[in-house]
Amino acid sequence: MKKIFITRRIPENGLAMLREKGFTLVLSEKPRPLSKRELIKELKKNPYDAVLCLLTDTIDKDVFDAAPSVKIFANFAVGFNNIALEEAKKRGVVITNTPGASTESVSEFTLALILNAARRVNEGDRFMRAGKFKGWGPPMFGRDIKGMTLGIVGSGRIGAEVAKKALRGFEMKIIYYDVIRNELLEKEYGARFVSTLEELLRTADVVSLHVSLLPSTKHLINKERLAMMKKTAYLVNTSRGPVIDENALVDALKNGVIAGAGLDVFEFEPKTAKGLTRIENVVLTPHIAAGTEIARQEMARLAVTNLIAFFDGKTPPNVVV
Ligand code: NAD
Repeated sequence: MKKIFITRRIPENGLAMLREKGFTLVLSEKPRPLSKRELIKELKKNPYDAVLCLLTDTIDKDVFDAAPSVKIFANFAVGFNNIALEEAKKRGVVITNTPGASTESVSEFTLALILNAARRVNEGDRFMRAGKFKGWGPPMFGRDIKGMTLGIVGSGRIGAEVAKKALRGFEMKIIYYDVIRNELLEKEYGARFVSTLEELLRTADVVSLHVSLLPSTKHLINKERLAMMKKTAYLVNTSRGPVIDENALVDALKNGVIAGAGLDVFEFEPKTAKGLTRIENVVLTPHIAAGTEIARQEMARLAVTNLIAFFDGKTPPNVVV
């Protein structure tokens, strides 16, 4: 019977699907990601047929070397920047992901960060907890997002859904930049394509990042590009941390280069850049944009569906390589 190693407990619906098919499951019960050394040790212990891994697992040459019997790594994530794809391809190891499972959840959360940054919800919360509230008064606090221009960077599944919600729910104007044009976004949501990232950064009141992490998108937002943004603009990132040069962002926030930010992902997760957590005008969340029950269960279902299809001799629905 095929043996699958699961690097961390995933929702029960996925495990039940695998058990029903008769797979032998070995599950890491640690309440944290395995270190690379722990993962390699486990893989060397048993000749597994498959691994269900998380975005916190680095799947590289050393891991492939430790697991020559593993024919498929099913990533429990949309992104796959944690996996050495070229190495997998070279060895004929199949890699799958879970596209679409968290589009709704991440797009909703992106709106939460946009609203939080502009309306300063977290600052209000801290004010209350510090016992500083002395009663209502006329001073101004926060800005309306209605009518603001939202700049979507990366108009794939999540970027397009953020655009839809921002337009229909909050009457924001949408511009977008991508290496591939999204006709649907233009036709359905009146989004205007801008041909350079620089133009988007100069025009948008809110910049929201939705690109995959690739060599070409690492530090896509750096010191020079932050300086192109409006002083009144907000930067939101629910994609992957390294898309932003986080140290440069800390400087930009401290020096008033931009008005604020909302971040769910960090360059060196779980660490944050020096000084980031002491800045007032930034909302920080621990990579939870896809953390809802519905999204997590759908991620489990898709990851497991890929494994089952593979061992049924079919092409898994979400093959990356
Ligand atoms: P997607 O593949 O549908 O969209 C990515 C888009 O980025 C594509 O349209 C692509 O053309 C574009 N792109 C690639 N390189 C670019 C570049 N250099 N400049 C501009 N655009 C570029 O992916 P998706 O499902 O929309 O997910 C987007 C990302 O969100 C994922 O890769 C993942 O890293 C991240 N994500 C984060 C969470 C979270 O919990 N915070 C959850 C799910 C996904």
